[in-house]
Amino acid sequence: MSTRQDAVPHGLALLCDPLHNKGTAFTEAERDALGLRGLLPPHIHTQEEQMARFLHNLRNLSDPLEKFVALSALHDRNEDLFFRVVCDNVDEIMALIYTPTVGLACQRFGHIFQRPRGMFISIDDRGRIADILRNWPRKAGIIVVTDGERILGLGDLGANGMGIPVGKLSLYTACAGIDPAMCLPITLDVGTNNETLLSDPYYVGLRQRRVTGPAYDELIDEFITAAREVFPDVIIQFEDFANHNAFRLLAKYRDRICTFNDDIQGTASVALAGVLSAIRIKGTTLAEEKFLFLGAGEAATGMADLLVAAMVEQGVDVAEARRRCWLVDSKGLVVASREGLNEQKRVYAHDHAPAADFPAALQTLQPTAIIGAAAVSGAFTPEVLRAMAETNHRPIVFALSNPTSKAECTAEQAYQGTDGRALFACGSPFPPVRFAGKTFVPRQGNNAYIFPGIGLGAIACGATRITEEMFLAAARALASQVSETDLEQASLFPPLSATRAVSLHIAMAVAEEAYRQGLASKARPKDLLGLIKAHVYDPHY
Ligand code: NAD
Repeated sequence: MSTRQDAVPHGLALLCDPLHNKGTAFTEAERDALGLRGLLPPHIHTQEEQMARFLHNLRNLSDPLEKFVALSALHDRNEDLFFRVVCDNVDEIMALIYTPTVGLACQRFGHIFQRPRGMFISIDDRGRIADILRNWPRKAGIIVVTDGERILGLGDLGANGMGIPVGKLSLYTACAGIDPAMCLPITLDVGTNNETLLSDPYYVGLRQRRVTGPAYDELIDEFITAAREVFPDVIIQFEDFANHNAFRLLAKYRDRICTFNDDIQGTASVALAGVLSAIRIKGTTLAEEKFLFLGAGEAATGMADLLVAAMVEQGVDVAEARRRCWLVDSKGLVVASREGLNEQKRVYAHDHAPAADFPAALQTLQPTAIIGAAAVSGAFTPEVLRAMAETNHRPIVFALSNPTSKAECTAEQAYQGTDGRALFACGSPFPPVRFAGKTFVPRQGNNAYIFPGIGLGAIACGATRITEEMFLAAARALASQVSETDLEQASLFPPLSATRAVSLHIAMAVAEEAYRQGLASKARPKDLLGLIKAHVYDPHY
C-alpha cells in the first residue's frame, strides 16, 4: 500500500478513485466502513486472484496496442493492482507500457483516448499556469514534462506525446517504488508541425503549428516558476523535447532548480554503465576505448560528455578523453573544419579529414565501440558489423535508438555479424539469441534503469539539484549490480526483474553524492538505506 496518509473517499467515489480502489478485493469490514455494501458483487477476491484474472485476459489479446489500452484502463481503475501486475511481470509488461508499444500508443493517442491522466497546459494558458496546477488534487513530488516535439525516434507528436510522461512515471513507481500519488505527468501543448495530426479529426491537441521564440520561452519559464510555487520540492524531468530546446533548457535551469533531462543525462548514465560492463569483459580501461557515435544529438553528446567525465575522474586529461569520442551526424563525421556546429558538437569536432557517412568514418577511425542514437533503422549493416569484428576481438555495439523499428540493428544481427563476439546493448527489448551453440541474452541499455533510482534518491534526501556526479554515481551503482553470470551470457545490465533492488543501490549512491556535495535539504540519517526504503511504495494491498 501507499506511504501516503490522505483521506480515503467513500462509496462510489472510492470505486472511481484509482489510488484507493481495490475493486472486488475490499474486505467485509471495509465494505461496511467505507459505504461500499451493495456496490460490489459479494465474492471477495484476493489481489493475486485479481492479477491472475487480468493477466489471463491480457494474454488473450494479440495486438500490443490492445494490451496497452487494457493496461491503461487498469491503471485508471486500480493503481495498486496495476503496479502489482507490472512489478511481478516486469519483463512482459514493460515493453507494453513503455518502448516499443508506447511509441505506437502515442501515434494513436487520440484514437485510443479514454480518460485524461496528468495535466495538459497549452500555450493559451500563459498567465494562469499556477492556478491550473492548483487543480491537481495532490502534492506532486516528481513532474515529467514534455512538449511532444521529439517523441522517441518518432518525431513531433504534439499533445499525443503525453503517453511518454505517463509511461515514464509508471516506471518510476514500478522500478523504484515512487508513490504514484507523487507523480504528475504534464504535456505542454504549443501546437504541432505534424501535418498528419493536424488533419486528424481525433487529434487531442491544439490545431495549430508550433509556437517558437519568446512566446515558447515565456511558457516554459512561467511553467517552471509556477511548478516550484505550487509544489516547492518538486523534481522536474524534461522528456522528449527536441534537440534545439533540450540543451538550452537544461543549461538554463540545471543550476537553478532540481531538474534533469533524461534523454541527455539518463541515457548517458545507462550507456556508461553498459560500457563499464563491457570493459570488465574485455579487461580494458575506458581510456583505451575509442567511441564512434551514430548521431550527434541529445543522447549521443550526453553519452560522450559523461564518458569524458568518467575518464577525467580516472585521471585522464580532458582533451585526451574527448579525443576518444567521435560523432557522425546527418552530414557525416563531425570534424573541426565543419562550420556552423553547435556548442555540444564542437567539443568533439577533432582535426581530421571529413568522412561522408558512418561507414566511411568507421573505416578511417577504426573505433572499438559504436553507439547508435540517430533513429536510423538498420544503420549497423552487416558490413559495419563485419568491419567492427575485423578490427576488434570484442567489439562494443550499442543499438540504442527507440522504438524497435528505429534500432540500428537487431540483437541477432549483432551477434551473427560479429561471430558472436559483440558486446551488445539495445534501446528496446530483443529476445535471447542462440548462435554457434551459445545463448546470448541482450539487455536494454535504456534509461529506465537509471531515472527511477535517481528520483528515489533525490526525494529521500531532499536533493536540491541533480548533478553530473550523481549520474556518474548512478552508472557505477548500476554497473556494480551486473553479476559474473550476467557477463557470461553477454548481458551488460542486470535483469529487468531486479530493477527494484538496482534502483535502491542507485538511490543510495545518488543520496550519498547529494550529501557529499552539500545538496541534500534533509539531515543525514544514521540509516540512509532505511530512510530510502521508507519512501518506497508497495503495491500489495
Ligand atoms: P536528436 O534529435 O537530439 O539527435 C538525433 C541525431 O541523429 C542528430 O544529431 C542527427 O543529425 C542525427 N541523424 C539523423 N539522421 C542521421 C543520419 N542519416 N545519419 C547520421 N546521423 C543522423 O535525438 P536524440 O534525443 O539524441 O535521440 C536519438 C535516438 O536515440 C532516438 O531514437 C531515441 O529514441 C534514442 N534514445 C534512446 C535512449 C535509450 O535509453 N536507449 C535514450 C534517449 C534517446
